[in-house]
Amino acid sequence: MKNEIDIAADYIKESNYTIAFTGAGISAESGIPPFRGENGIWNKYDPNLLVLSNYLNNPTKTWPVIKEIFYDFFSKANPNAAHNVLAKMESEGLLKSVVTQNIDNLHQMAGSKTVYEFHGNSHTFVCLHCHSKFPVDELELNEMPPLCKKCGKILKPDFIFFGEQIPTDAYSNSVEAAEKSHVVIIIGTTGEVVPASTIPIVAKRSGAKIIEINLESSSYTNSITDVCLKGKATETMNLLAEKLF
Ligand code: NAD
Repeated sequence: MKNEIDIAADYIKESNYTIAFTGAGISAESGIPPFRGENGIWNKYDPNLLVLSNYLNNPTKTWPVIKEIFYDFFSKANPNAAHNVLAKMESEGLLKSVVTQNIDNLHQMAGSKTVYEFHGNSHTFVCLHCHSKFPVDELELNEMPPLCKKCGKILKPDFIFFGEQIPTDAYSNSVEAAEKSHVVIIIGTTGEVVPASTIPIVAKRSGAKIIEINLESSSYTNSITDVCLKGKATETMNLLAEKLF
């Protein structure tokens, strides 16, 4: 009898349009903790840090903490086997795109080319005044906060703060990919952050099979998931890779 990994691999091999939908859990084994849960970032830090008005009204207080979490800490992380298998699947023609809620750039560092970043990316900064963008390595992060090299106004990390709009292109590209998909591989997300969480649901309504990889049950597990692969993202993706390549 076929096990769940074989069934998932068969779905992927038979599909003409597979996408991945990833959350904080895929990066946990790279050393970046999720926001929530026992070891979550919000157990140690105040989530109000990422309310835009708090950053703008008091940047000298909030910037050092944002820098500590997203730059001193996140920037040490490297892609893990799960990111690497997704990148290889794309290069072998088995995956069209990754829709990610993550802001850590690890999919791109692993070699994924088509990545729709629902919540933006911490490796770029944007000027809220003249809209110029700068890569993080061109900026002096010890400045509080970093300032625009063109107009001198305040820069903000180019990921969305609480209450900000989803980047328009990322949203429309993700919905389009979901509507076209035959298979979605969901990895490491609770599926609780709206509207990102609707992407697999859009795909399911368009007829896609849903494969889910997670340590625990999520909001998808007993609703839209067809194949549930319970386990660590790295180990499960390595098992899948053995069947695919
Ligand atoms: P979440 O924190 O709500 O949930 C993480 C999920 O990953 C949980 O379901 C957990 O069971 C699962 N998980 C944890 N470790 C795993 C592992 N090794 N293998 C497989 N699954 C594992 O994360 P979320 O659903 O992505 O939502 C949080 C929001 O926070 C996102 O929108 C994202 O933007 C942001 N975030 C991003 C990062 C990042 O960029 N790496 C980190 C923290 C939070």
